[in-house]
Amino acid sequence: MRSIVWFRGKDLRVADHGPLAEAVATGEVIPLFVLDPFFFAPERARELPHRMQFLLESLKALEADLARLGSRLLVVPGRSVEVVPRLAARWRADRVLAHRWVEPFGRERDRRVGEALARQGTGFCLFEGETLLPPGSVRNGQGGPFRVFTPFAKAIMARIDLPLIQDLRSKLPPLPKGVTADEVPIPALADLGIDANPGLLRGGEEAARERLRAFLAGPLANYGTDRDRMDRPGTSRLSADLKFGTLSVRAVWQVVAASGQGESARRFLNELLWREFSHHLLWEWPELLEQPFRTGFQAFPWREDEAAWEAWTAGRTGYPVVDAAARQLKAEGFVHNRARMVAASFLAKHLLLDYRRGEAHYMAWLADGDWAANNAGWQWSAGCGCDAQPWFRIFNPTAQGLKFDPDGAYVKRWVPELAGLPAALVHEPWKAPAALRGRLDYPGPIVDHAWARQRFLAVAKGHLGRE
Ligand code: FAD
Repeated sequence: MRSIVWFRGKDLRVADHGPLAEAVATGEVIPLFVLDPFFFAPERARELPHRMQFLLESLKALEADLARLGSRLLVVPGRSVEVVPRLAARWRADRVLAHRWVEPFGRERDRRVGEALARQGTGFCLFEGETLLPPGSVRNGQGGPFRVFTPFAKAIMARIDLPLIQDLRSKLPPLPKGVTADEVPIPALADLGIDANPGLLRGGEEAARERLRAFLAGPLANYGTDRDRMDRPGTSRLSADLKFGTLSVRAVWQVVAASGQGESARRFLNELLWREFSHHLLWEWPELLEQPFRTGFQAFPWREDEAAWEAWTAGRTGYPVVDAAARQLKAEGFVHNRARMVAASFLAKHLLLDYRRGEAHYMAWLADGDWAANNAGWQWSAGCGCDAQPWFRIFNPTAQGLKFDPDGAYVKRWVPELAGLPAALVHEPWKAPAALRGRLDYPGPIVDHAWARQRFLAVAKGHLGRE
């Protein structure tokens, strides 16, 4: 049996890789990666510089790992729907093996590739692996999808039993003789017109494993208490690894579940279930990428306000946590979860700007930008999502800062203009004595919190009242 293992941007690893393991077990293996202009056209790639950096590093690492194991990654440019069937025919492959995607555009691509392969008699087999359980397979008592997280999580916990696919430690078979293609080297960032950002985490399976090891040896023990602290390195920082599949979520689940860390491990696994929930939601309702889950939020009277948008993206709203989040995003392609929630809520509720604009901005700059998790995070924060924060609960960015960054270390790191303020004033710089305030190159609050809160409540009440 001759199999093409079609790696895509979400499974850039050799361990716990269903398609690769299946191909190895059954005969000849041809590892393939297609540089589809959908992502890799320079004008497109430049719109997502941090994701592209992480992806290319991970792809390079995969290429090296496959070579070390005795095989070779073939990297071919072109549209997947044309390249994959063409090469499968040329190489006389029996089948193409890949992982399933949940995004609507990935599903459509796979539908078209599958049809083309079927026409020429090549098999096409999609494996589960991006999620713990297959999307669409977790059903409520009536046989429908869950709309609330807690019962969804309970249902998963009741049936979770994850056999790990064997790690590939042994050699891979070499590429079959005569298999050639119009290969190209993996592009460098500079080829795509992108400047490398040294502030990003390193991509690749080995770097991911190191991160996981460090998390297990350190922060996991206090994860339950520290995960909300913006000033502490209390979380795993595995989000880009899970997004690009340099680690499989099943493998992460299993080592954490077996860590013996009790409540902290349970809290962490619960976060993996939020990730899971977002993927199952997008599978069920692909239109979520365009529309809010709560229909009452459709045609919501979001404002147009370029000055407010500019202030929010530049980190100059005058609200320190919101501004720190905006700057961390561009510097590290990452934002602490608590800061994401505060900043997203601020955009939608305090500034009354369309959450979809913020969502797109995050997708542009996050290294872990994930369609499902990002969409769910934004809809949760704006109050319009499935099992979201209720629309009438509005984060007070100052109170959030005082609680989850009590010494102001997070803010001082990302908003150095405030570094000289005593901790008590970092989250409320407007309370500083006039002489001190005058020396700060930092704006006053763009909106008054109490006023903005009332404005959102009034607008939302008026609009949703018609639901
Ligand atoms: P940890 O706390 O160590 O959590 C472990 C893993 O669980 C994460 O790596 C992630 O895969 C998953 N996870 C944790 N929290 C969530 C959550 N609330 N929803 C879904 N998955 C979660 N996460 C992304 O992976 N990509 C995104 O594009 C993304 N955008 C977001 C946008 C907004 C507005 C919000 C509020 C949240 C978003 N999240 C996103 C979820 C969360 O903020 C990040 O997963 C988390 O901050 C990543 O840091 P970590 O790996 O250290 O997390």
